[in-house]
Amino acid sequence: MNEDLSTTDQGTTGSTTGLPSTTGAGTTQTTAGATVTNTATVAGPSTTTNGTTGNPPVTGTQGSTSAGPVTTATSGGPVTTSGSTGVGGMTATAETTGSATTGSDLPPNPSGLPEPGDGGVAQPSGAAGGLVVLPWAGYKGAISYSFDDANSTQINNETQLMGLGVRFTWYLQTGKQEAGNAFYQRALDAGHELGNHTQSHGSGAADSDVNQAQTFLMNTYSVVGYTMAAPNGSTSNYNGISGQLFILDRGVSDSLIGADDNTNMQNLPSWIPPQGAGTAQFNPKADAAQSQGKWQTVCIHGFTGGSDGAYQPIDLNGFVSHVNYVKEKGDVWIGTMLEVGAYFLGRKAVKAAQPQAQGSDQVYSWTLPDVFPPGQYVRVTVDGGTVSQDGVALPWNEHGFYEVALDAGSLTISQ
Ligand SMILES: [Zn+2]
Repeated sequence: MNEDLSTTDQGTTGSTTGLPSTTGAGTTQTTAGATVTNTATVAGPSTTTNGTTGNPPVTGTQGSTSAGPVTTATSGGPVTTSGSTGVGGMTATAETTGSATTGSDLPPNPSGLPEPGDGGVAQPSGAAGGLVVLPWAGYKGAISYSFDDANSTQINNETQLMGLGVRFTWYLQTGKQEAGNAFYQRALDAGHELGNHTQSHGSGAADSDVNQAQTFLMNTYSVVGYTMAAPNGSTSNYNGISGQLFILDRGVSDSLIGADDNTNMQNLPSWIPPQGAGTAQFNPKADAAQSQGKWQTVCIHGFTGGSDGAYQPIDLNGFVSHVNYVKEKGDVWIGTMLEVGAYFLGRKAVKAAQPQAQGSDQVYSWTLPDVFPPGQYVRVTVDGGTVSQDGVALPWNEHGFYEVALDAGSLTISQ
């Protein structure tokens, strides 16, 4: 069904797949009684609902709040590749009641990202102003799991990995037969990211090796890769091309990333777990991201017990237990490299905006990086006032934020 992604906006694959709806939907069990009435509140213009209905709803997406009755909420998935139009189209969390509090017709979670907390956060009612762009989509910290090399122990453990209901990044070495395995299409359909790990793992000229992989991703999955992982972590070989095509190039030297850090996106820190790693090695990494309010990225090659020659394979059961451990924390965002990376950059752009007075309104304008996936959002809060974009009031999301479409380039706070 990825022909729907003809504009190749992987950044919104979440939206297009309908998966995001499930994330928000899950939380509704605690927010309001209106759990399964989703379809009644589908706000999107019906014109945008093309055929992307068949995506499997991924339930239990994240955290303890995610077990909600998702049902048909996913079926309307309007494919809206640009954020500004995407606002209208998402069926997403239509049942999340947020819109009622502002009178906005828009859904409160157009990003489709998972939502922190149990909901029930009151809309700010103080003086207009006080814009805060929340780090990590409103979570305390973030963690991204990426899988390199299109190894068979990834593919062969689909049930366990997909069953976690969270999104991963798959850095495909596209010259391998396995890169075309239907597993990766299913992962994409479930909201995961497919990224660029070159065609031949660095054995060709750097730029052409990357470009060939990019072509493969487009031709096979209708995807534009927005992030890459340099083969063998040799990011310096790719600085030219990675700056032209990607928001980040994942390296292999480990460090937590702070929301305001001046991180080198062309050698983004990542942790490679030791061979056989399980919860004893993994859980402290998530604990640190949580306690320090930072972003941990993880570079995984495969799992023990296979024959794919994966570099430092880890223990599958340990990994599954670990991810469940993080989900249960509830305040650590599990997102793809693209999702978290774009959020990281988008937040900086909005945060740097200086308000301009227009009458009694405050207008914040920003410019996104030249290379940036469309359809991305940041979550903001205010002391009070009405937050709007393009003249339309944004709905309050009861998980504690307004979702701001980055593509719109500005927001307005008014009394
Ligand atoms: Zn590799």
